[in-house]
Amino acid sequence: MEFTVPAPRPPGAELAYPDYALMLAGAKGDVEKFNWYLPNGLDSGWFAYDKRSWTPGRPSRMAHLVTSKGCVARCTFCERPTVGYRNYDLDRLDAHLGMLKRDFNVGFINIFEENFGSNKKHSYEVARLFKKHDMIWVAGGTRVTNVSYEDLKFYQDHQCSGLKFGVESGSQTILDVMEKKFTVQQVRSALENCGKLRLMAPLSVMAGMPGETLDTARESGRFIGDIAYSFGTPPHLIGGVGAFYALPMPGTPLYEYGQQTGLIPTDVDGEEAYFKSLAYAGSDKVHYLNLSGAPVREVLFWDILMALEANRTFYRKMAQAPRPPLGIYEVAAAPAAAVAEEPRLGAMSRVLWRRMERLRNRLGRETATTLLAKLATGMYVERFIMRKVVLSPFVASLPAAPVDAVLKYAIYAEYLLGVSVLRLFGLRANKAVFDRPRRAPERLEGDAALTKQGRTHSLRTVVHRQRTAPRSKSALQSRLLYS
Ligand code: SF4
Repeated sequence: MEFTVPAPRPPGAELAYPDYALMLAGAKGDVEKFNWYLPNGLDSGWFAYDKRSWTPGRPSRMAHLVTSKGCVARCTFCERPTVGYRNYDLDRLDAHLGMLKRDFNVGFINIFEENFGSNKKHSYEVARLFKKHDMIWVAGGTRVTNVSYEDLKFYQDHQCSGLKFGVESGSQTILDVMEKKFTVQQVRSALENCGKLRLMAPLSVMAGMPGETLDTARESGRFIGDIAYSFGTPPHLIGGVGAFYALPMPGTPLYEYGQQTGLIPTDVDGEEAYFKSLAYAGSDKVHYLNLSGAPVREVLFWDILMALEANRTFYRKMAQAPRPPLGIYEVAAAPAAAVAEEPRLGAMSRVLWRRMERLRNRLGRETATTLLAKLATGMYVERFIMRKVVLSPFVASLPAAPVDAVLKYAIYAEYLLGVSVLRLFGLRANKAVFDRPRRAPERLEGDAALTKQGRTHSLRTVVHRQRTAPRSKSALQSRLLYS
């Protein structure tokens, strides 16, 4: 087998923007398909709160683009889809924005690169171009260390509506394990600066790195609650409810740690089987490969606990000293068209039709056993708890210990029932939490491997320390990104 990545990289000046004319031709007149590339910006959840979005005559479509490739950081869970860091040519961007507006009615831009703002000079020029073309824009991947209050102010003055930071955790221990190279205080300050400027900055939180415990999950929850309070907005509206779970991707220390602990195979066939399993996996908890060493009942409870603690913190502080809502997330949570009081029946029927189509396809494709496995592992109680119980201000006011115990064991009981059904019928669910629940490594919590001289270290340090032999050149991961 020969691996061909990473491929030679063209310099930033040669990087090209998407050719929408080609996409339009590829869609063969199917406007629905083409609209997927250039949807209505006001339906995206980002722009509706921003008065500038409602300027009469503003072009309605939103284009996705990147102005740089790669990332300057090396977080221990991140596969960084692009190696190195390069900026796109600004003259090309100027021409591209002009074309988007003229030919495709684009008035909104979603920058979805990994690391907006790393090259400040370039990012400022990009912002100037957006203003020149009267585009409202957001950037979806920014490091908190890359933006001061003045930068945020400059971006906002140049038509920025929001930024999304990779917050990941409210626990410094976990941020250090992730090698985020910033502090909880820096995250707090970046988010609060956004709040002061009324820039949207939804949270994105992750659970399940080695070292995660109920205590670190609690810390994250309290941090989310604090931020929500500073915005005067309930945690679920700022993206603070529902964490991603760490997913070991090849080329990362997390992946190598998985190999060192025996949860990810090291031979070519085994690795290939793992890659195939990734095709089913998302970064939600049912696909979590338990690298933390925590008991499954805790693993299943981390994201719920974060949400509970976030709500407790938020409602307690609001009761003590109420704050007015920021007035951003509340508008964004409502469908944009409802804000504009436009009829949405057409859109609703399209959604309904698509869902029915998906269900029909699924029923036709799946066998009774796969359906049974899905039913057994659907986590319906857990979903009900997350959607209905956790969000309740009344539940937030109850004593934490008994509530946590009841919810944790309710979820765990549902899980055990699912595992029993799988075993009874000899099924696999293609969900790591169900298929491989027992094979957990020793926990790293408080372990000398992770903590030295009172300081938590990056997972990379642990992985390097545990290496017993030079890594084989033939292994796929060694041809990828991490060294
Ligand atoms: S998580 Fe974000 S900041 Fe960290 S390496 Fe990946 S892209 Fe860069």
